[in-house]
Amino acid sequence: MKVAIVGGGLAGIAAAHTLLGDAGVSEVHLLEAAGGYGGRASTDSTSIPGFAFDKGAQYIQDPTTNPLTDIAKDLRFETVKEEDLYELRVDEDGVWADVDTDTPEVQAVVDAIQRSYDAAKSQPNVVVAAKPRFDTQAEMFGHATSPYGPFTESAETWQYLAADRAREAAGDGAENLFVKRGVGTLVAAYGQLLPTLYEGRYKTRFGTRVTSIAHGDSGVTLTLGTSGGSLAVDACIVTVPVSVLGSGAISFEPALPAAYTNALKALRLGSYKKLALKLRTDPEDIVPGTNYYLIETEPEGVWQCYRLPHAPDVLVAHAAGDFAAALDAMEDKDVFSLFKANVQSAFDAVYFTNGKAITNWSKNPNAQGAYSYTAFIGGGPSEPGPLKARSDLGVPLGKLHFAGEATNLKCYGTLQAAYFEGVRAAKAVLA
Ligand SMILES: Cc1cc2nc3c(=O)[nH]c(=O)nc-3n(C[C@H](O)[C@H](O)[C@H](O)COP(=O)(O)OP(=O)(O)OC[C@H]3O[C@@H](n4cnc5c(N)ncnc54)[C@H](O)[C@@H]3O)c2cc1C
Repeated sequence: MKVAIVGGGLAGIAAAHTLLGDAGVSEVHLLEAAGGYGGRASTDSTSIPGFAFDKGAQYIQDPTTNPLTDIAKDLRFETVKEEDLYELRVDEDGVWADVDTDTPEVQAVVDAIQRSYDAAKSQPNVVVAAKPRFDTQAEMFGHATSPYGPFTESAETWQYLAADRAREAAGDGAENLFVKRGVGTLVAAYGQLLPTLYEGRYKTRFGTRVTSIAHGDSGVTLTLGTSGGSLAVDACIVTVPVSVLGSGAISFEPALPAAYTNALKALRLGSYKKLALKLRTDPEDIVPGTNYYLIETEPEGVWQCYRLPHAPDVLVAHAAGDFAAALDAMEDKDVFSLFKANVQSAFDAVYFTNGKAITNWSKNPNAQGAYSYTAFIGGGPSEPGPLKARSDLGVPLGKLHFAGEATNLKCYGTLQAAYFEGVRAAKAVLA
């Protein structure tokens, strides 16, 4: 049997390992639009010398059940467990002051989010997001520091809450792991094992964008956009992000049935932006291992920033949801300036030197967003379609299979979801 895999992120790599572990599979062809493995797990090791900047995924979550924990051990990648602390910096009458995350004002917002989530959870359909209103900075920080993280300042709020709660429910509660050389480097190394382990049976083509897929009872034929030509196989696993699929970048012949196209309307990738700046000096006020939340007014949102204990000479910042989307629309140099000005007004003596890195997932044609949430697309309790989107997309369509973080029902939006789904689709092909 000859199988094609579209996409060389963790789902595609895990699918390839699973297929090639079966002697009945004679050839696996992995087609990847980018120049290498990793997809949304990708490490930039050059922009800041000596620092592995994970542009997408950076934590191994639920390490006791996450397959990457063992893969890291086998491939001798050093991991570190880091217990985080959270601190807010608010501007009280022009004076910067630290606020505890458990002050009543902040806690009230966190409790309100939990109550809303509990109410939303009981609905058969997905709850629409409304951008929350904040009267005080502490309220805004309450949202930013709720157990659901910085997503909660955005209009994507409830969708992300559902995602985060789903992860928590499926999780092991153990501390996240960082990979010192970058989780993207680890995922790429796991992909690079394939040609060595399965020489002759495994073929990969990087820089190869699949533009159309014809599927039928006798097999699947893929059109390879950039290199031209086509590839005929017995079965195909498509792991490209749902935003890419939903954008029509790959055409299907015959067209996908309504269950799939409806699922792709409901599954979206949200916005998440990261940047990193090399520090020239050691700013006393910014303690490694502590997360600080800084308010921004134009565009409105909250930065989360921190120094990693294992890389204290770098300041990393995250933005999520609407705020990240607004930053993605700006020039990189303006985003750096905005963040630097904010940090320098909140803390004394923060100086930067050469070395900076930034992401823009929404403008990356191979991702078109960060990770999946289920959008509210109308309907009511009698129309629970959006909640079924993930399972609908995962149903095999003859010889064609869809897999990736978004088809996982329990921990979507994570690396382990991508891994589990790649394995699931490969087993369905083998069956
Ligand atoms: C900013 C950010 C932070 C995150 N943080 C974490 C975290 O800390 N922990 C965690 O577990 N997860 C995290 N995630 C989520 C995690 O990165 C993803 O869930 C996971 O990497 C998805 O893997 P995948 O294989 O499903 O998809 P992808 O990694 O997106 O792989 C799909 C591949 O398809 C390729 N492709 C696209 N179009 C085509 C085409 N037409 N032809 C051929 N190839 C194509 C892409 O280039 C890509 O390589 C984060 C994601 C982001 C963006």
